[in-house]
Amino acid sequence: MLSLDAPLLIFTDLDGTLLDSHTYDWQPAAAWLARLREKNIPLILCSSKTAAEMLHIQKLLGLQGLPLIAENGAVVELDSRWPTHPDFPRQIAGASHAEISAVINKLRTRSSFKFTTFDDVDESTIAEWTGLTHAQASLTRLHEASVTLIWRDSDDRMADFTRQLNDLGLQFVQGARFWHVLDASAGKDQAANGLIDLYQRQWKRRPVTVGLGDGPNDAPLLEAMDYAVIVKGLSREGVILRPDSTVQVYRTQREGPEGWDEGMTHFFATP
Ligand SMILES: [Mg+2]
Repeated sequence: MLSLDAPLLIFTDLDGTLLDSHTYDWQPAAAWLARLREKNIPLILCSSKTAAEMLHIQKLLGLQGLPLIAENGAVVELDSRWPTHPDFPRQIAGASHAEISAVINKLRTRSSFKFTTFDDVDESTIAEWTGLTHAQASLTRLHEASVTLIWRDSDDRMADFTRQLNDLGLQFVQGARFWHVLDASAGKDQAANGLIDLYQRQWKRRPVTVGLGDGPNDAPLLEAMDYAVIVKGLSREGVILRPDSTVQVYRTQREGPEGWDEGMTHFFATP
């Protein structure tokens, strides 16, 4: 059993993990959120969403001022108490959104790949795709270091597109609903490890880390943790961690925020 008095850092995915994948509700996790706040334990949101979108969600969850990992690790919002950090308030890993857009538009023109990016459509279309309101959908377009798209071509063509991206120092990452193009050096695990190091310097001791996620794209983040909660999800493949991973894993029976609550209670006993 873990103690809430340990130097803890908790990293969590949003959709399908802390937030219900359909309604975006998090009420089943509310008691734990209050407990973590009371104990001053940083809860770090980690997602493919933009920082603008995540800062809004962070505020709704009462987590403002804490770091967050956006755009699959390509963007890291630093703790608001670290204004002297040279990258304050945000770190960007590698290529910018504009640079990546230019590259993929060139590939699309040259090889006629079929895909639709968030930049190709208006807010109403994104609202339809995601079920978000117009105001929220406008925040999903404020990418700083990645491009989000819907792939509309064959698997073979996707392999070709991926190879061409890799040759140019970019990677193609599958999220829960969309695909994302980002710098090859970026990742949720790299972003989490960077934050763990920064807290270690502040705290003068190694943080104990707990991660929660529900999708295959959360695996690198969870492998970087000491303890992982795999929330039961909709994904057919599920979350498979590397066999040599030393993380202690708990798989929940319940989905979404109910599974989040179940996993936290498993490692820490009742909130
Ligand atoms: Mg998820």
